[in-house]
Amino acid sequence: MSFTLHGIAVSSGIAIGYAHLLSHSSLEVAHYVLPKRFVAEEIARFEVALNATRNEFTSLRSNRPSYAAAEFDAFLELHQMILDDPLLSVGPREMVEREHCNVEWAIKVQTDALAAQFDEFEDAYLRERQADVKQVAERLLKQLSGQPGHQPTHLRRDVETILVAHDLSPADMIQFKPQQYAAFLTDAGSATSHTAIVARSLNTPCVVGLHRARELIREDDLLILDGEQGVLIVNPDCTILAEYKLLQSEWEIERKKLKRLRSARANTLDGVTIELYANIEKPEDIVEVKENGATGIGLFRSEFLFLNRDQLPDEEEQFEAYRAVAAGMKGQSVTIRTFDLGADKQIKGVAQVSSNPALGLRAIRLCLAEPRLFRTQLRALLRATHYGNIKILIPMLSCVSELNQTLQFIDITKQALDCEGIPYDREVKIGGMIEIPAAALSLNAFARRLDFLSIGTNDLIQYTLAIDRTDEDVAHLYDPLHPAVLHLLSHVIATANKLGVPISVCGEMAGEPVYTRLFLGMGLRQFSMSSSQVPTIKQRILSTSLPQIAVLTQKILRADDPVKIRELLEKLNS
Ligand code: PEP
Ligand code: MG
Repeated sequence: MSFTLHGIAVSSGIAIGYAHLLSHSSLEVAHYVLPKRFVAEEIARFEVALNATRNEFTSLRSNRPSYAAAEFDAFLELHQMILDDPLLSVGPREMVEREHCNVEWAIKVQTDALAAQFDEFEDAYLRERQADVKQVAERLLKQLSGQPGHQPTHLRRDVETILVAHDLSPADMIQFKPQQYAAFLTDAGSATSHTAIVARSLNTPCVVGLHRARELIREDDLLILDGEQGVLIVNPDCTILAEYKLLQSEWEIERKKLKRLRSARANTLDGVTIELYANIEKPEDIVEVKENGATGIGLFRSEFLFLNRDQLPDEEEQFEAYRAVAAGMKGQSVTIRTFDLGADKQIKGVAQVSSNPALGLRAIRLCLAEPRLFRTQLRALLRATHYGNIKILIPMLSCVSELNQTLQFIDITKQALDCEGIPYDREVKIGGMIEIPAAALSLNAFARRLDFLSIGTNDLIQYTLAIDRTDEDVAHLYDPLHPAVLHLLSHVIATANKLGVPISVCGEMAGEPVYTRLFLGMGLRQFSMSSSQVPTIKQRILSTSLPQIAVLTQKILRADDPVKIRELLEKLNS
């Protein structure tokens, strides 16, 4: 059955692929011991399920769907081989005989053992085949539960797989490699959640906030995901499929054309140069930064180095990561944010679960509450300043005393390095993120003590409008064009410009072309965004004349009616 769902577009591009449902629990099965008289019956259940799964593969091979490519057979062959491995085809029977356990448990234990063998391979491709082992086991378990897979098994060729999840944490998302999946979709989420931000940095189309997609979509359904419009089409007919294939190739041609702007300067029509920087989460991201022609890094979210691990990175590991980015950017500006952990980015043993994490011990508050961790990071950061053009950025400042304490920490760390004779950049610039309304409204006090400022629009909007940016139930209220938000943005940009303190915007708004002229009109000259957005924003700048947008921008800033604001913005962009 074909149907369409609408969600929130968070990372553009069109993907066509087969659904893979992410289910953390599918291999979580119960374990119980059977009375001896039921053992033979349990073994018979296993043999029936095993044969049914084999038959399922055979029938899939002989009924290969017309849209499936030739790799389909190779992929099925691999899954058949996995199923026939003695660990899966014989091991569970022996285990039930020996231990009188339920067969689902025996399959789980044998699957883990087989997957562990794949873990030993040096070759990354072979290691990744663990996922195939789990998929085969899931198929077997589905047979046992009386709900066999009824859709054609797809290629699992990575580029053609679309990951369907109820929700993904930023920590889940950061583990995916670029191009591992053709697209992501989730029931939960909103446009500026960190999960969405990481999807964008992977340059992978993504739609979130689809509510019941995970429940409605079946494994291997054919999906079309439009990351520009936030549309998902499940099991499209041939006409729709052909139409989207065309749109997909047009989109790719457009991307290639945009990439030709890579080495062009981002100058307005009247000759003003705008700096376009990139946001990164991992040192490896600098490849994309360069490919897209960003002229520096405006935000390195260093906290991603701390996720998905039991042991936190020590000073040496952090130093290496920061040094590698600075050296890789060859003298271009690299702004590294001290870790913004807490809220949706929790780590074991450090961040406390609070009743309202977004308002709790997060970012600089957590750094100051964990002096040992903070000092380690500051040492690593300062040491790395010797190897490139590093600036340090402090997240989520709300009051001057936090800033004073932070500056004191930095001074003490510098003194310690001096005593040890370790070199660092004595002139290293320290900046602050303006992402809490209190900081925006008392900007002078921050601007006086800092070398530069960066507006985090994701949080500034969250905290101004009292909307949890990760909560899809209030995602519709998240409005970057709310008059209060526009007022704060223009106030911060104008004040910083008046005081001569460099100011940039590094929240998601900076990478959305619909706001580029508005920001330029407010006086912004530095933007930092997901690398993949740099060419699009550059194109918008190249077609903008600052004198021509001045009057309309002022009209937008004076307007207080949301409809009027949107009408005027449309005019500004036409
Ligand atoms: C922001 O809040 O806009 C920002 C850039 O920081 P983050 O999205 O990591 O909170
Ligand atoms: Mg923020």
